[in-house]
Amino acid sequence: MKPRKVELIYNYDYLLERLYSRLPARGVKAGRFELPRVAVERVGSKTIIRNFKQLCDVTRREPRILMRYLLKELGAAGSYDEDSGMLTINVRVSAATLNKLLERFVKTYVICPTCGAPDTRLERRGKAWILICEACGAEQPVPPI
Ligand SMILES: [Zn+2]
Repeated sequence: MKPRKVELIYNYDYLLERLYSRLPARGVKAGRFELPRVAVERVGSKTIIRNFKQLCDVTRREPRILMRYLLKELGAAGSYDEDSGMLTINVRVSAATLNKLLERFVKTYVICPTCGAPDTRLERRGKAWILICEACGAEQPVPPI
């Protein structure tokens, strides 16, 4: 019976492979996308995101865009230090709150709502902000930051 089993497994793999080759690559890309957790440090009444630049690189968004989003959502002031890549927020915020905000940012401003790929860019057209997907070409208006 053993050779028969091997043959079945081979066929199953073959079928799976054939199935995947027919699926659009976007599903895989979205699955690979992983947002790092924020590395937070509190100094007095301020909160520092130590890996802010890394978060910007992963989401492929300019630091000023992500900074503006976070500060606006938190109703706080803050500053980005280009040399260290850290963002200082002038209030005390928990890591959980920041992670939640980042997830919301990614859902709205990074992931394509049509195909789920993270390969997108933000474009400003006058007052409108458009999320453009490089995987499927979809264009989605998003709230300006
Ligand atoms: Zn897309």
